[in-house]
Order: sequence, then C-alpha cells, then structure tokens
Amino acid sequence: MSLTIGMVAHDSKKPDLAAWAVQHAGLIARHTVVATATTGGVLKSSLPDLTIRLVKSGPLGGDQQVGAMIAQGELDVLLFFPDPLAAQPHDVDVKALLRLVLVYDIPAAFSPSTASALARSGLFDR
Ligand code: PGA
Repeated sequence: MSLTIGMVAHDSKKPDLAAWAVQHAGLIARHTVVATATTGGVLKSSLPDLTIRLVKSGPLGGDQQVGAMIAQGELDVLLFFPDPLAAQPHDVDVKALLRLVLVYDIPAAFSPSTASALARSGLFDR
C-alpha cells in the first residue's frame, strides 16, 4: 500500500527537508508526496524525478489544504520542519495544522532526526 506523505518546511528548514528527502529518495519514491508550493519547488530541484502534488504556499492557504487532507483521511504521514526561531505570518495556520495532526493522530515528524526515526521504524517500507 502506498502512502500519501505531506511535506512542508519553513524557509530556513527547506534545505534540511530536501537533504532528508535526497537521503531517503528510494523510500519515498514509491509513495505520493504532497507539498506546499515553495517547499515542493525546493524538493523538485533536489529530486527532479520525484512526483510531487503541489498545494498552495503555506502563507496562502497551503497549510490549511494539508490540514483539510488530514481531516478527510487523505494524508498518512506529515513531515513538517518549522523554523523555531522566526515568527510566521501564518502562525494560526501552523497551529491549526499541528492540531489536526494530533486530532487524527497521524504519524508526523518535525525535525530531520525524527523523520529519520520514522523511516527506521519501517513506516515507509509498505
Ligand atoms: P511554502 O509553505 O512551502 O510555500 O514555503 C510552507 C509554510 O510556510 O507553511
């Protein structure tokens, strides 16, 4: 069974998410990746062959689109690397996304080390 994996990163963390994705390219290639627009563009430049479904940029509603996918049971995993040192204009959207992760208890990672732990768990092996 393939998974739908959400990928979102704030600007300073986009390189970390892209590096994680390159490192785990073989694992994620068999799944569907959904990313916010700018994050998806960065992922695409690191992994040109990866098929990515883009939603809007986070500040323009992309976080809410990803949250709606969670509420509708359309997202299996979320990799979300937020910047803990920068204020975000769409902070309320970020909070709403995190809340839905918890409401629906989907597996989520908020840092490279946790994303790698999820990968080691075998979650992406199916
Ligand atoms: P972006 O959105 O990928 O379009 O930058 C991410 C976010 O800030 O939530």
